[in-house]
Amino acid sequence: MNRGGVPIARIAGIRISADWSVLLIGALLAWGVAGGAVPGQVPGTPVWLAWIVGVIAAALLIASLVAHELGHALLARRRGVPVDGIRLWLFGGIAQMNGDQMTGRTEMLVAAVGPAVTLLLAGAFIGFSWLLVQAGAPPLVIVVTEWLAAVNLALLVFNLVPAFPLDGGRILRGFLWTRTKNRMTATVAAARAGRFFAVLLIGAGVLDLFFFDPVAGLWLMLTGWFLDTAARGEATGEQARHALEGVLVGEVMSKNPVIVPSWITVELLVDQYVMGHEFTSFPTHSIDGRIDGLVTMRGIKQVPPQQRGNRRAIDIAIPVERVPIARQDEPVTDLLKRIGTASDGRAMVYDGGTLVGIVSPSDIARLFQGGPGRRSATVAA
Ligand SMILES: [Zn+2]
Repeated sequence: MNRGGVPIARIAGIRISADWSVLLIGALLAWGVAGGAVPGQVPGTPVWLAWIVGVIAAALLIASLVAHELGHALLARRRGVPVDGIRLWLFGGIAQMNGDQMTGRTEMLVAAVGPAVTLLLAGAFIGFSWLLVQAGAPPLVIVVTEWLAAVNLALLVFNLVPAFPLDGGRILRGFLWTRTKNRMTATVAAARAGRFFAVLLIGAGVLDLFFFDPVAGLWLMLTGWFLDTAARGEATGEQARHALEGVLVGEVMSKNPVIVPSWITVELLVDQYVMGHEFTSFPTHSIDGRIDGLVTMRGIKQVPPQQRGNRRAIDIAIPVERVPIARQDEPVTDLLKRIGTASDGRAMVYDGGTLVGIVSPSDIARLFQGGPGRRSATVAA
């Protein structure tokens, strides 16, 4: 999941952004109200008015989703878990947080607070609907509050299914984690439940598609597929984290990197250094011997062959300030937190003032290949 999205609000210091796909879910919800709930309960409503009601109801539902995610985010922050923000997208909302600071108990509480907010909202909309009926409010207003109550209740039930990464599955993982003190086995078990539920959803979606409601069927299949992918990703990520535990940078780095002069042309770089070395990145040094950049294969490939003669290595190098620096005795897991896309997933390893190695995504990936009891996994570094 990328961290981008269009920023739409900041509530209690939490950044809320939306992906464009949220418009699709908004439109589907508005359509459900305008084409289903409104004509069902208030026949004869003009289509344009039904759509206005639909759009308002959809906006209020998305606000309910934000409230749910804010519950997760605010409690997480309170318990010392760094929160990046809330992202709205096709399947609702995601509170983005750094799981490294989690404990089993915190995970249980943070996961439970979202459904608690949704329960409060459903209760409030039920009470509000009742009051409106008593006060003799216009039926179209009551349609909206009743629909909001019903959808929030449905979301509550769905989210509480113990299928990771749904809230119910997170509560389950937190519970197993607290009991067994083993984050990995807890995650793998909760993810297995998630994949099982995902298969049920896809099966129900296929039935729905052919025999009942094709749109709902497609939606169920899509949701099931998303859940399965997410559950698998979480399990794999957790196994990767486990495999990296206790491994030091010095054990995975590619040693004795080939340092190239930063003023040579890309052509010379390719002919003299890239060919014949297995390295995928080359640190560059300036005339005074200082390391000033890191050329990667990706950078080289971006230069068309006919321009290689007039571009220098330094022109395509990642500036040295953007490449994270590591020590050999540092745990790989600590380094991975600092490696980002700015350095193409790479870091330079120094011993005192001397460059002794480079860590690249393939060095990390090698850790997962083979080895007794180690499942193969791909790490998107
Ligand atoms: Zn939630």
